Amino acid sequence: MTFGKGLAQGLAVTLRTMLRRSATAHYPDNEPSLPPRSRGVIALQEENCTSCMLCARECPSWCIYIDSHKETIPATTEGGRDRSQNVLDRFDIDYSLCMYCSICIEVCPFDALHWSPEFAYAEGDIVDLTHDMNRLREWMWTVPPPTALEAGSEESKELASFREKHEAGVRGPGPERTEKDAGEPA
Ligand code: SF4
Ligand code: SF4
Repeated sequence: MTFGKGLAQGLAVTLRTMLRRSATAHYPDNEPSLPPRSRGVIALQEENCTSCMLCARECPSWCIYIDSHKETIPATTEGGRDRSQNVLDRFDIDYSLCMYCSICIEVCPFDALHWSPEFAYAEGDIVDLTHDMNRLREWMWTVPPPTALEAGSEESKELASFREKHEAGVRGPGPERTEKDAGEPA
């Protein structure tokens, strides 16, 4: 009798579960809809990087590898001094060690690192999980644009100065145009 009751209860649970809507997404046929700021992969904007090593020093997993050399830039004015600048030779991130903590992105003083929500970069060989600077650069194309400012909030001084130059006729891509600008000559 107890056996029959237990069986009936078990079958009832099975039936209830069968009728419930499945929470499992059939990836890759169904791509998950992730928030735009998801931590998928780190993208490198190479032009912004000064090889200051801050990200590599702060990374708790020690999975950022940077090599650079110095180049001399000749003075542009007579009697001026030559300048030297760091040029990146290597910028690798080993995603088999990375714990997606975001510390490297937060400490970078020059906005050279950004999160992209892309996550489909699984590899059969662990060695291929180290992305070199060319691959990290390519991820930049998948970084979502910054969210629009809230209505009434103050524009950042960098954007304001860029806009002023753009409006004064200095050629360049210019900041994103607002509805107010639309229709005005560039
Ligand atoms: S997210 Fe964290 S662990 Fe990954 S590279 Fe950046 S600092 Fe290192
Ligand atoms: S902290 Fe930023 S600028 Fe400095 S090495 Fe890292 S990515 Fe480059």
